[in-house]
Amino acid sequence: MCVRCGEAVDPAFSPAAATICRVCRLAPPPFVRAVSYGAYEYRMRDAIHALKYDRLHPLAPRLGRMLALAISQLAADAPADMLVIPVPLHRSKHAQRGFNQARSLATHAIDALRALHPGWRLTLTPSTVIRLRATESQASLTPRQRRANVRGAFMIADPRSVAGKHILVIDDIFTTGATVRSVAQELKRAGAASVWAATLARARWNNDQHGDTPATHTLANKAAGDADPAFETIDSTRVPPAVSPADNPQPASMGSSTNQPSF
Ligand SMILES: [Zn+2]
Repeated sequence: MCVRCGEAVDPAFSPAAATICRVCRLAPPPFVRAVSYGAYEYRMRDAIHALKYDRLHPLAPRLGRMLALAISQLAADAPADMLVIPVPLHRSKHAQRGFNQARSLATHAIDALRALHPGWRLTLTPSTVIRLRATESQASLTPRQRRANVRGAFMIADPRSVAGKHILVIDDIFTTGATVRSVAQELKRAGAASVWAATLARARWNNDQHGDTPATHTLANKAAGDADPAFETIDSTRVPPAVSPADNPQPASMGSSTNQPSF
């Protein structure tokens, strides 16, 4: 896996000792590292959809604990003092959904991390970043379109509050990384000392080989599915079909293969 973004890397394409994917080589990300708990597949996908679209809030503490385990991967490298910024929704979407799932996950993850890493001082600052545009759903967009879609979509409410600070950006899903990159870029521009990122789930793109072409289900996805004991008590019969018109990062039309970096 890429040491920067966590993308799967084919060793044939990245023979160097320090594994870094094609995207991060071509366009180094504005975050130091991005980590995830698991693949955006199977029960993880069902659980995220149940939280977001069916407002099944009792799932949030458990998913937050999983996010905390992802964030724990940063314990050796990340500073002990960080501001935690959930990726914001646009106010129209917030009004429609009634809550921001990234904020809910961040709140529960911070609770869990208090026990896991008592020395870590994580401060939730959910109003630091503002989403200026109700961005088009990313579902059917290519990676390049996704980057354009979120470019200029975020603004830092008070740049003085992030200047010189270490920041952890939280979101539910990392698909191509376009959203997290966009937020991290604005934070760096406002003077943040370092930006880190953690998401609950990660969609696999395998961009090291195929440019804009999404990977089909990989071994990692298969392994992360049914065998995950953390989901054993989630009753899958209560979970709706995992299809939604919004925020579904399964790319629908990904025909082109170019030499552009995809993230
Ligand atoms: Zn990478």
